[in-house]
Amino acid sequence: MSETGSIRSIGVIGAGQMGNGIAHVCALAGYDVVLNDISQEQLDKALGVIEGNLMRQAARSKISDADCAATLARIKPSIEMADIGQTDLVIEAATEDEALKKVIFQSLTEHLADHTLVASNTSSISITRLASVTDRPERFMGMHFMNPVPVMQLVELIRGIATEDTTFNTVREVVMKLGKTPTAAEDFPAFIVNRILLPMINEAVYTLYEGVGSVDAIDTAMKLGANHRMGPLELADFIGLDTCLAVMQVLYDGLADTKYRPCPLLVKYVEAGWLGQKVKRGFYDYRGDAPVPTR
Ligand code: NAD
Repeated sequence: MSETGSIRSIGVIGAGQMGNGIAHVCALAGYDVVLNDISQEQLDKALGVIEGNLMRQAARSKISDADCAATLARIKPSIEMADIGQTDLVIEAATEDEALKKVIFQSLTEHLADHTLVASNTSSISITRLASVTDRPERFMGMHFMNPVPVMQLVELIRGIATEDTTFNTVREVVMKLGKTPTAAEDFPAFIVNRILLPMINEAVYTLYEGVGSVDAIDTAMKLGANHRMGPLELADFIGLDTCLAVMQVLYDGLADTKYRPCPLLVKYVEAGWLGQKVKRGFYDYRGDAPVPTR
């Protein structure tokens, strides 16, 4: 980090759909990126996805071929936590599971440089609780990107109880340098976007569960009737049904209100391993040429 406190390098933990998008936009904005995952296979896959997405942006003349090559060259994949800890800002984007994230932050802490800021891309989990397992709650905050990261404009910024203003402002500057728009949300379950969006998706699953409509009828109704770009079940598949369920569980546990109870049908899909687009099956089956509703 420079003397003025500006961030030059960023470590990203978790190379799934969010981690690869975060690495993509950070490297494109000029940051040196270290991308980490427990699975080498997932890292290889992520680099392939990033390359494909950059090439698509180049084909649409949104970036130059030179930008494309330079961006890829700035991303270093690593399965070593030690490589991540020496960056100026670490953004954690691993699976939405509090116990797992706490283990990651605990093992990350011993590798962190003194000045390193730490952020979590969690969709719903308490930033204060995650920060408490590190040695630096004052330099820890929520940095909630939207999916797909290269396309979506918003990043929600969440202060934990101990987050210092300098941490918040430095991360805010990074968001601006990425060309995105920050909003601030308080540290309550699921923050702003998912507090509103996920109950709607869960209600769509109840609508399906209770037989009010088919997958196609529900998505068509909300696209044409409410002018949503994607139907709620299509969106659930896009987010990942495991993530949707995890967010509903955090809302249900954290706010202790039965209006947030996860729909049993959502639970069943997750138990079946039908997690949505990332595994090619969820409310739709994506294994053929066109998505086919599974109900
Ligand atoms: P994903 O399932 O696509 O990817 C999760 C990745 O984490 C996988 O590559 C997995 O191998 C990796 N991982 C698991 N344990 C790990 C560990 N110990 N160390 C390093 N990597 C590990 O999930 P995703 O959709 O990318 O979600 C990641 C995070 O981003 C979650 O916290 C989620 O809530 C949040 N998020 C998701 C969305 C969305 O629409 N999917 C939007 C905003 C935020």
